[in-house]
Amino acid sequence: MSISTQIQYLKGIGPAKAKLFERLRIATVEDLLHYYPRTYQDRRLGMPPNEYNSDALIVCKGRVLRTQLIPARSVLIFKAFIEDEHGNTLECTWFKKRTYRAFRFDPFAALKKDFHMGNEVWVIGRRENRDNFFGNKITVEEQYPAEDVLTSLHAGRLTPIYGLTEGLTNKQFRIFMYEALQTSTLAREPEILPQALLSKRKLLSAPQALQAIHFPNSLAELQNARTRLAYEEFLLLATAWGIKRTQTKILAKDYTYEIKKNLLTPFRENLGFSFTNSQRRVINEIFNDLCSSRPMNRLLQGDVGSGKTVVALCAMLLAVENGYQAALMAPTEILAEQHYFTFKRMLAGLPVKVAVLTSSTKPTARKKILKELSDGDLSILIGTHAVIQEDVKFHNLRLAVIDEQHRFGVKQRSKLKEKTAKLDLLTMTATPIPRTLALAFYGDLEVSTINELPPGRQAILTETTTSKLAYDRVREEVQNGRQAYIVFPLIEESEKVSAKAVTEEFEKLKKVFPQFRLAMLHGQMSQTEKEQIMADFASHQTDILVATPVIEVGIDVKNATVMVIENAERFGLASLHQLRGRVGRGDHQSYCMLVPQHAGSVAKERVDIICATRDGFKIGERDMQLRGPGEILGTRQSGELEFKAGDIFKDRDVLYWAIEDRDELLTQDPGLVQPEHALFRRKLQELYQKNWHLIDLS
Ligand code: ADP
Ligand code: MG
Repeated sequence: MSISTQIQYLKGIGPAKAKLFERLRIATVEDLLHYYPRTYQDRRLGMPPNEYNSDALIVCKGRVLRTQLIPARSVLIFKAFIEDEHGNTLECTWFKKRTYRAFRFDPFAALKKDFHMGNEVWVIGRRENRDNFFGNKITVEEQYPAEDVLTSLHAGRLTPIYGLTEGLTNKQFRIFMYEALQTSTLAREPEILPQALLSKRKLLSAPQALQAIHFPNSLAELQNARTRLAYEEFLLLATAWGIKRTQTKILAKDYTYEIKKNLLTPFRENLGFSFTNSQRRVINEIFNDLCSSRPMNRLLQGDVGSGKTVVALCAMLLAVENGYQAALMAPTEILAEQHYFTFKRMLAGLPVKVAVLTSSTKPTARKKILKELSDGDLSILIGTHAVIQEDVKFHNLRLAVIDEQHRFGVKQRSKLKEKTAKLDLLTMTATPIPRTLALAFYGDLEVSTINELPPGRQAILTETTTSKLAYDRVREEVQNGRQAYIVFPLIEESEKVSAKAVTEEFEKLKKVFPQFRLAMLHGQMSQTEKEQIMADFASHQTDILVATPVIEVGIDVKNATVMVIENAERFGLASLHQLRGRVGRGDHQSYCMLVPQHAGSVAKERVDIICATRDGFKIGERDMQLRGPGEILGTRQSGELEFKAGDIFKDRDVLYWAIEDRDELLTQDPGLVQPEHALFRRKLQELYQKNWHLIDLS
């Protein structure tokens, strides 16, 4: 048995259980060992008896005084009275539904064996009736016989709690983990971190850290384990990007830009507004990058509505002025189409050919676009990630712009970069990334920030309310000639199910607003349908747009003044902020009405934050704290570059260590060719093969 052994060969697992582990992306013993606990429960003893009167988890070691079986009509109840070390008696209860099976088999057979009078047992549970201060009635969550050797995995310790999947329990998980730690040749596995760094940072060895992350003997040991594992993750990532940065630095563009202004000047004159100071500043920064000899890799961040699109268009026009092609990638088809219409409008009268390409572009149209693209007739291509598909060949693509960067996986970003090695890349986001994270992730990334909104914007009134009050507001605004959005959440991340749900709601809403013109928009509609619906809404042929979050980003209709968000608790902060940004784009007072259904505490916190905060940057930071950075970077789904142990907020110091050590390491041994770095290099290569198309370690 080694760490690369398939998990089904681990004691007690087998092919059926291995399938369940597959769902958690655990295939090998190594994967299992690196599946860290989601959290820990403090199941150490020493709780004073009066604490049984609180909501806290109850952990009790005691002796069984007597037991009782109570057959009720629909359930069977098993009771055990246990005397704890302090002399308290606890009344523990277990319930089992009375099924046909339960008549034939005793569902409590195993329990009765362990809970025999006089036996010593562990019970973990919660107070049954928290208002009843008499007696100690406990609903049991887990129980263990004290003499069993494996009990020490579950009770009397800091106990790991894992993210589960149906069919697996925490109890099983702990036992398998224990088996994996016992039987694997883990202890003999080589250490990938260079010895010098281990001693410099006083880190646990890899086997120590793995043992302690699953079964810590103390909080201090747990912290040490986390530090070691976080450091390893951060260092690997920082080094990968460090190597990447060096490689980009030595890349020289074999083309140049010249600011000719034969397109830029007429464009600016036609625009109908002048740039804000921020816009002017970032346009300068971008132009400087473009005119330099190194490929640009710049992140443009600016709040919703701060006017990032025109900035991108300026950059693209500079490329076109110089005879090059430029591409813009948007996260959704609707947004791509919207950008297309915006570009068409803003470029009216200029000799610049623009097209939009998405996965629902008709084959004939697609063929034509592809031909014009490879011939160089087409200057600007807008699209979704369909743009990066294999058969899309550009004549001379030099500049790629990625809108709403946080929505793309790292893989897609890199695919685009692969299209042409020396490409100028501008990514835009309304969800800012803290500087430190940007450093660690993208060593080579420059950041430009638009920190003001165009003049004349009004604050959007945001409140939590009921459907009824929200609909009253919609009615009032539409009667005054305005328009409204009503948005429903995505269900289980599936556009298909969501489309069905939103269709049902749409039928209901038609009855709520019989006097108005309603339209519906969701991701399952065809491109022409969507285009038509957006165009109708933009030209005020319809009053109310009922939609899934497909409209979340970029949609720009100035006459729309109400955004109703149903089940608001199901949206992340960034989404809520983006949705709110769809209104307040014209001169009229606008409203964002959040309609929560049932809110848990995190959900409520989110809704409160969005009501109180207008600043997208603050919201971004809070969002990251609530959700963790992986999700924000769009990597959680694709499972890449996700920190398992590290947390850039909690482990900020460790992150700095990693960046510092990375810099030293790469100065001292840029190619990682020294023998003491061999294993680290191999690990990096392994990860690179799996995940990172960005660095070349060959
Ligand atoms: P975002 O940064 O959210 O992508 P957009 O680029 O969609 O914002 O811009 C929002 C709206 O503001 C658009 O209608 C755009 O035409 C308008 N806009 C952009 N810059 C200015 C400006 N300097 N003055 C007035 N309106 C502007
Ligand atoms: Mg935008």
